[in-house]
Amino acid sequence: MKKFLVAIVFGISIYNSASIAQDATALRIIAIGKSDPQVMQHLDVLSNRFGGRTTGSDAYTHAAAWVTNQLNHWGKPVGMTAELEIAGQMSLGFNRGPWFGRILDASPVTLNFATPSYSSGTKGVQAGTEMMVPVTQTELELRIKEFKGAWVLIPGESAGGRDGELIYKTKTMTQKLIEAGALGTIQSAEEPLHISTSAPTHWENLPTLPDIKLAATQYQAIQKRLQQGEKVVLEFDIRNWFYPGPVNYHNVVATLPGADLADQIIVLGAHLNSFDGGTGAADNGAGFATVMEAMRLLAQAGVKPRRSIVMLGFAGEELGLKGAEAYTASHSKDLPKILMMLNRDSAPGAITGITIPNM
Ligand SMILES: [Zn+2]
Repeated sequence: MKKFLVAIVFGISIYNSASIAQDATALRIIAIGKSDPQVMQHLDVLSNRFGGRTTGSDAYTHAAAWVTNQLNHWGKPVGMTAELEIAGQMSLGFNRGPWFGRILDASPVTLNFATPSYSSGTKGVQAGTEMMVPVTQTELELRIKEFKGAWVLIPGESAGGRDGELIYKTKTMTQKLIEAGALGTIQSAEEPLHISTSAPTHWENLPTLPDIKLAATQYQAIQKRLQQGEKVVLEFDIRNWFYPGPVNYHNVVATLPGADLADQIIVLGAHLNSFDGGTGAADNGAGFATVMEAMRLLAQAGVKPRRSIVMLGFAGEELGLKGAEAYTASHSKDLPKILMMLNRDSAPGAITGITIPNM
């Protein structure tokens, strides 16, 4: 954080004759940053209240609205304004509530699992016997009736969608299990769980069979019990749901206008969206919260920079830099004015340096 602050101060004062250490504005920013830091509050709201901010979810839409509101509130005294700029569109919306699962033994065991984005939830709390899926298609056909009301252990370690990671297409086995009335499938997943996406293409083609990725140790333990002929009963409650699109998603763009050199721009950027298997705290809540805090500090310190300072909270980064693409397309006339961009992404922890890419 300290180095980052220094970098921002450097951005403001880069051509000033006064040294950073003696610059009253810089000292004011540093003093507020030390006496009243709020970066952890921003991160708390982003990750614990809104949670996983996958693009095209209410969590992302609401987080972007909240950030815009906060920046406008802080920015009023210094003329800093923030707005939402359209960055793209998803064909439909996906939201998550809580998820919970357990083995219904005499002493129930809580299960460590997740489901990919854009996969089906359960119909409330659903308990059922655990079954191993047959190895061959013929055996599956012969035993199909046995899978009614069962959770089905299927092979293959996986983090992504059972029926396609980018485009959802119901596989034959999935279709058979749906017809049989199975409750859902369970695959083994590496720990810590790193869950990615499966994406339905149409509202008419929504997944309906839950796609559970269970921690490998628990998967193996259940598998062993089934192989020994034991009956294992599992219970899941997964609140995933869809809503009809198209769903627009937006970048947050905040501008602190410059004075005599307003046509020169310093950019602070970070993607605001995240994956939604977790709360999006590390990638990129931690990155975005520092950028947001930098803008708050500039406003609180009453900074009137010579150059314009623009903050970009990008949408759709995990979809392939969609927010950045949209910004560069709609602001092509501003691009030559940008002197420097500082971007925060990738990992949590202390800022230990600044990487300057070879362009
Ligand atoms: Zn990232």
